[in-house]
Amino acid sequence: MKAFAHINACSVGEVIQLLAKYQGKAKLNAGGTDLLGVLKDRILPDYPELIINIKTITQLNSIEENDEGLRIGALTPLINIIASPLVEKTYSILKEAAVTVASPQIRNMATMGGNLCQDTRCWYYRYPDEIGGMIKCFRKGGKTCPAVTGENRYHAIMEARKCFAVCPSDMAVVLTVLGATLTIAGGGGTRDISVEEFFTPMGNVLVPDEMITMINIPKPSPVASQNFLKFTLRKPIDFAIVSAASLITIDRGICTDARVILGAVAWKPIRVSEAEGFLRGKELTEEVIAEGARLALVGAKPLSKNAYKVDIAKTLVKRAVAGC
Ligand SMILES: Cc1cc2nc3c(=O)[nH]c(=O)nc-3n(C[C@H](O)[C@H](O)[C@H](O)COP(=O)(O)OP(=O)(O)OC[C@H]3O[C@@H](n4cnc5c(N)ncnc54)[C@H](O)[C@@H]3O)c2cc1C
Ligand code: SF4
Repeated sequence: MKAFAHINACSVGEVIQLLAKYQGKAKLNAGGTDLLGVLKDRILPDYPELIINIKTITQLNSIEENDEGLRIGALTPLINIIASPLVEKTYSILKEAAVTVASPQIRNMATMGGNLCQDTRCWYYRYPDEIGGMIKCFRKGGKTCPAVTGENRYHAIMEARKCFAVCPSDMAVVLTVLGATLTIAGGGGTRDISVEEFFTPMGNVLVPDEMITMINIPKPSPVASQNFLKFTLRKPIDFAIVSAASLITIDRGICTDARVILGAVAWKPIRVSEAEGFLRGKELTEEVIAEGARLALVGAKPLSKNAYKVDIAKTLVKRAVAGC
């Protein structure tokens, strides 16, 4: 690892000032479960001059409920989400997703903000510098994407153009289905943005002097069933091949509301609006659910080695809608 300066931040204001001063040459360290690996393997073209430890801002480790919903501080570790009675009672899908993330050791350290901002897991992007040199693809300012003609079995099947890496965050999938927003603090003040709009094809909307401070989750309908399903190759410690989250409301046998999100299929969690629209107003028979799942994947454009993800995604949508 290259040498860097290190500061324990005391407040959000101090972080913003430091980020502004270092102009993209400082990095935030929350739980460090992603950042330290990225630095050790030297996968980035630029190395930070300063690491700002934000775990020391203890006010951002919080879970509170008010009349509108849940407010989770960005530095809340996943283990606290799993242990929270507030989450369990009304927002159980957050726990369902959090327990599937990595291992107990990582969940003890990994924070909600860090989970949303973690870097891509594309294996070309993550290729360690010490083994044959860094691969400078589109995402690192290069001119190609080796995944297009190479090993693309875990890559995107939807909405990709130059970069085919998928968003690796499980929490992003369930926060999207819940309609959550993020409070972002920066040099220009504070702004709120939906999780749905947070991701971009090459990362996220944060500019160098910004950080996430809070995650705001509206109260879901008490009668909506919440489901999160994740398909992995290994059971413990594995990223999703595909995941699906749903919020389904049934009134007198008819689906009155449906929200369905697919994870690990694109650079952001994908809301399958056409399928949602089709399901609303119908009795969810096996045939209706199967047609909803077909519609959810109509826009899929798999690469040479990942068409299998389309079938897995359809199955997960069916199961998430049926609630099994
Ligand atoms: C073996 C392994 C298995 C994993 N499996 C899964 C999995 O199944 N599902 C899954 O979702 N994830 C998985 N992960 C990823 C893991 O969830 C992330 O590493 C973790 O959530 C990152 O949180 P952190 O607090 O440690 O972030 P850090 O490593 O501290 O930071 C990650 C990035 O986010 C930035 N950042 C952190 N907090 C903020 C903030 N508040 N505002 C702005 N930027 C911020 C940092 O600057 C850094 O760039 C796995 C990781 C490992 C190592
Ligand atoms: S998918 Fe994206 S991150 Fe991976 S090699 Fe291609 S451009 Fe780079």
